[in-house]
Amino acid sequence: MTVSGSCLCGQVGFTTSGPLRPVITCHCRQCRKSSGHHVAATSAPRNSISVHGEVAWYQSSPAARRGFCDTCGSDLCWDGPGTHLSIHAGALDDPTGLQLAGHIYCADKGDYYAIADGLPQAAQDDATLMTQVS
Ligand SMILES: [Zn+2]
Ligand SMILES: [Zn+2]
Repeated sequence: MTVSGSCLCGQVGFTTSGPLRPVITCHCRQCRKSSGHHVAATSAPRNSISVHGEVAWYQSSPAARRGFCDTCGSDLCWDGPGTHLSIHAGALDDPTGLQLAGHIYCADKGDYYAIADGLPQAAQDDATLMTQVS
């Protein structure tokens, strides 16, 4: 299944050709600061993603950087260790065929909202959630 996506202004776009992981939300402080709320992301093997346009990068920790459009500011992806790139689900065009599967870093979530969808919640990282691929 091919899924496409883009930033708000369309300067950066991408398509994925392989299977995508179910969507996971991350409530860590870095995701909340950079996105304005929490991040919802799928992920895909890097070699299954083709990008057009120029992604700008912010090195948010020694091990990871965050990709965004430097024209419109849209958050697009999280590039950390491993073979997969995390892609922010809001950048994807419908239909994605994806489902939300759970929440990570819930110990760091904001105090102004509740997580009440009944899906699994991990206090920190969660290997089971992170490695599921549909
Ligand atoms: Zn843009
Ligand atoms: Zn996070």
